[in-house]
Amino acid sequence: MNERRLSQIASDIVHGSQCPRLRSFCERIGREKRAAYRDQTYWAKPVPGFGDPHARIVVVGLAPAAHGANLTGRMFTGDGIGGSADFLMSAMHANGLANQPYSRSVDDGLALVGTWMLAAVRCAPPDNKPAPDEIARCHTHFLAEAQALTESRVYVALGRIAFDACLRLIGETTAVPRPRPAFAHGAVVRLEGAPAIVASYHPSRQNTHTGRLTPAMLRAVFKTAASIAARPLTSDRTRASVPTSQTPRGARARARI
Ligand code: SF4
Repeated sequence: MNERRLSQIASDIVHGSQCPRLRSFCERIGREKRAAYRDQTYWAKPVPGFGDPHARIVVVGLAPAAHGANLTGRMFTGDGIGGSADFLMSAMHANGLANQPYSRSVDDGLALVGTWMLAAVRCAPPDNKPAPDEIARCHTHFLAEAQALTESRVYVALGRIAFDACLRLIGETTAVPRPRPAFAHGAVVRLEGAPAIVASYHPSRQNTHTGRLTPAMLRAVFKTAASIAARPLTSDRTRASVPTSQTPRGARARARI
């Protein structure tokens, strides 16, 4: 059932064209290509989510990279050895959420374990900066996939835009307090009756190359997510506590996407 719905949603995503600016950017990148990939055929279309249809953990990124998922057609795949995809997959693999510590091509054998991966925006945006109206339009796809992932227990939000998208998603069915929970690396948001959100800095090269996000920091984020996902449903979704945003000490710096 999940598989059929997700497959239909993937088709809807791939054939969408609601954001002309982004669609034409993806196609132009696919025509012009980066020199290192000139022999490859770019996907150059919107990118659907992928992973385990029975996922308890949903990883939410910002958007496909122009020469990453826009090249390969799979989220967090193809931005080069040691890029964001490898950084992310290494942390997931360390927590048993992926069968290998790298993600480089659609035929590299990667399988996610109890985890689904998607992005707040499905078309690669210029300078990795989608416009607010583009984020809003693409939310429909996030909502559709989230509804099909009926066993999801926790969202791992990579960066502020993903975090805001998760709050918006949860707000569709659950009251989100005002002021809204703030983004901070390591923050955990739990609202009654909804999956938890674990926030992380985005594993962009800008963040990983400057040490803002280290491998240990991202491994810890997935350890927290895996721990929440492993709890029995009743003790998580039916919490009677006041909604909270818990931020570890020393992790209050704001994110750079
Ligand atoms: S960004 Fe989302 S809504 Fe806009 S065209 Fe791409 S898939 Fe469609």
